[in-house]
Amino acid sequence: MDRISLGNEEFEGNNNAYVLDGGDGDALALVDTGIAMSDCRAQLRTGLAERGYEFADVDDIVLTHFHPDHAGLVGEIQAESDATVYVHEADAPLVAQDTDAVAAFDRQRRDVLEEWGLPDEPRSELLGFLEAVREIQGEGADVTSIADGDTVAVGGHTLEAVHTPGHTAGLCCLEIGEMPETTGGDEGVDGLEAFVGDAILPVYTPNVGGADVRVERPLEKYLTSLERIADREYDRVWPGHRDPIDDPTDRALTIRDHHRERTGNVLEVLTEHGPADPWTVSAHLFGDLEGIHILHGPGEAYAHLDHLRHEGIVALEDGEYRLVDPDADIAAVVSSTH
Ligand SMILES: [Zn+2]
Ligand SMILES: [Zn+2]
Repeated sequence: MDRISLGNEEFEGNNNAYVLDGGDGDALALVDTGIAMSDCRAQLRTGLAERGYEFADVDDIVLTHFHPDHAGLVGEIQAESDATVYVHEADAPLVAQDTDAVAAFDRQRRDVLEEWGLPDEPRSELLGFLEAVREIQGEGADVTSIADGDTVAVGGHTLEAVHTPGHTAGLCCLEIGEMPETTGGDEGVDGLEAFVGDAILPVYTPNVGGADVRVERPLEKYLTSLERIADREYDRVWPGHRDPIDDPTDRALTIRDHHRERTGNVLEVLTEHGPADPWTVSAHLFGDLEGIHILHGPGEAYAHLDHLRHEGIVALEDGEYRLVDPDADIAAVVSSTH
C-alpha cells in the first residue's frame, strides 16, 4: 500500500489518494481520488506514473465518502479505465450525480440555511461559493453500492466497510485485511489498519452538521462512530488528509473530548446571551466566517444544539434554542463507554 500526497488547499487541504496493487501489478486499486482540479489531477497522474501506472490501469476505486476532495476525479478515471467504483449506499447517489439526489441535496441545504438563521448576506455569499466550486466535483461515476460489513477484494487486498456516519451519511472506514507477502509500497501495513477518510483527521476536527445536511442527529451519530473507531483499537489509520495517525484510539477520544468542550461552549453562549439560532451561536463561537465555513460554522453549532435538544437540555422555539436545564452534566451527554 502506498500513499500519493496531493497538494490541494481546498477544504481540509492536502488530500491523500492511496494506491493498492498487491505488489504483483495484477490488480490496481485507488482509495479516494482527490479533487477535480488541474494541479491535483497532474499530481495523481505523476504519482501513478512513478509507480508504473496510468489512469487507464485502475481496476477498482473505493471511496470513503462523496465529498469532492475525495471523489472529484473518480468519474474521469473511470471514463479512462472502466474501473469499478465502490462507495457506501448513502453517498452513492451523490457520487453518481443522480439528478434527483443532487437537486434534493441542494434544496435541503437551502432549507437548513433558513432554519439556522443565516442572514441574506452570508447566505448569498455561501451559495455563490458553492456554485463556484461545483466544477471541482468533477464528473459523476457509475457506482457499486456497499454497506456496513461488506468486503471488497481490490488491489490484492481485502477491504471491509465499517460505516462511520456523521461527517457524511455514508462515510466508511475501510479496514485492511489479508496482507500479501509484499505490499509494493514504502509504507507497509502493520497490524490492524484502516483507511478512515474524514472520520478522524490528524490535525482538524472533521466538520459535523454542515458537511452533509442530510445526516439526522449528526453529533450523536458521529460520537457513536468515534466510539466504534476507538473500539476497533486500530494500530494505525490512513486519513483522507495529511499523515497517518499512529494512535487512532487516542485521536478518536481526543476528538470526542473536543466535542464535549464545544458542547460546554455552546451552553455558555445560551447562558450569557439567551435563546439563539445556530447562526448566532456560531458567530459567538467562531466569529466572522468565509467560504465553506459559512456552512460549517452554523452546521457545527446546529449539531451541538440538536444533540442538546434531544437530551432535554435545550428547547427549540421559533427557530431559537433556549436553555432549559442549566445544571446538565455535559460529560454524560457527550460520552462514550471509554
Ligand atoms: Zn469530507
Ligand atoms: Zn476531506
